[in-house]
Amino acid sequence: MPLALYDTWSRTVRPFTPIHANRVGMYCCGPTVYDHAHIGNLRTYVFEDILRRVLMHNGYEVRHVVNITDVGHLTSDADEGEDKMEKGSRRTGESAWSIARRYTEAFVADWRALHLLEPALWCRATDHLAEQIAFIGDLERNGYAYRTSDGLYFDTSKQDDYGFLARLNRAGLQAGKRVAVGEKRSSTDFALWKFSPTDVARQMEWDSPWGRGFPGWHIECSAMSAKYLGTWFDIHCGGEDHVAVHHSNEIAQTQAAHGTRLANFWMHGHFLTFDADTKMSKSSGDFIRLQTLQSRSIDPVAYRYLCLTAHYRSKLRFSWTSLEAAQTALNRLRHLYAGWPEGGRIDHAFAARFDAEVNDDLNLPRALAVLWELSRSDLSPANLRATVDRFDDVLGLRLSEWRPATSNIPENIQILLSEREQARSEKNWAMADHIRETLSKYGWRVEDNKEGQHLIKVHEPSDDSR
Ligand code: AMP
Ligand code: ZN
Repeated sequence: MPLALYDTWSRTVRPFTPIHANRVGMYCCGPTVYDHAHIGNLRTYVFEDILRRVLMHNGYEVRHVVNITDVGHLTSDADEGEDKMEKGSRRTGESAWSIARRYTEAFVADWRALHLLEPALWCRATDHLAEQIAFIGDLERNGYAYRTSDGLYFDTSKQDDYGFLARLNRAGLQAGKRVAVGEKRSSTDFALWKFSPTDVARQMEWDSPWGRGFPGWHIECSAMSAKYLGTWFDIHCGGEDHVAVHHSNEIAQTQAAHGTRLANFWMHGHFLTFDADTKMSKSSGDFIRLQTLQSRSIDPVAYRYLCLTAHYRSKLRFSWTSLEAAQTALNRLRHLYAGWPEGGRIDHAFAARFDAEVNDDLNLPRALAVLWELSRSDLSPANLRATVDRFDDVLGLRLSEWRPATSNIPENIQILLSEREQARSEKNWAMADHIRETLSKYGWRVEDNKEGQHLIKVHEPSDDSR
């Protein structure tokens, strides 16, 4: 079954065909690096990773570009409020540049812990000022920009179909006029360039033909995607909140400067929301990080598994119970897989069923059901492994790399164990017995079997699931 994807622009699931044979350009709006990413943000990146893997599974070469927003994202989408980076700097006393660096590193660490494939390119907004200024210059020359006392704005009234992606009713918005417009000509107009305030010094600011200041948030994505993927590329992604403002504005800018609506497919991941039955306080409920899970001994990959259990176009209600269930399912799968030998063949009937599900607009919940059905089938263990390996190219659980963890074994015990292994290999049985006794004093029992030494915690049942 050929790949079909839901396109927010047309509001339909339609067959995917690349603009250039076999090559796919994909741009994903990345993090604003003033704080850690929360697991809601990360759900969106897991969805995008699955999309990329499914494209690769279909034989496409994917050029995946992710931006890092390190300037210009204001606390309010109406171009008011503070720059999130500068605000973060005031909160922590650290420079905005250093905050950006630190949270970018933290983000990349989360990215890797979730087994997200490395993008072809990470691009920082602050490394692309020249491109953004040039893009704004084009908009101004084409008659789409006007000046107010605090910046240069995009005039959305110049486009009849402004906001089509979100099916915005601009006439209705104007009539209602609930949003304060200030000096803007209409509420949907947005900043292309903001002037530095005169009363407070900014850390991130640049010279431009319009005055000293900083770029608006939306222009970075139009300018960087144009630079790295061209002004008409295959897929643009983000979270569902981007439809109404950020992506509508990216489209408006690119249409005004280059006459295209930027991407052939617009795809959006739906939100992670919080379950009413959790006992989390509101603040922690609002902001769970990957590290929060790790501190509760939950593997980041279990969170990835949880994301796979819901379709990307439905809300996923988070609860610790569902996350623990995901961890249990993942553990079971890892243990099953570890027992299957290499050297088998892919079962084509199961593979075809799996492919049909993932090609049906990334139906991962159904694809997982095929996987579990496969695991209970009467295929030989080696063929199970070969087939699951193929599925795992899409799932990204990296089952073949997993080993039962020894991290719950203290370091001194691990050292004793390796010394005993050494003694055994030298057939020094007296020493091996001596170390066995020492281990038992620490509360660990060691048994020897065909595979080697097997360690058991005497007082608590051992849990080798982590
Ligand atoms: P930000 O760092 O705020 O620019 O957001 C990064 C990405 O996370 C964007 O694509 C957002 O649309 C997405 N996002 C924000 N909140 C959530 C959420 N609760 N669930 C899923 N995605 C989200
Ligand atoms: Zn963007």
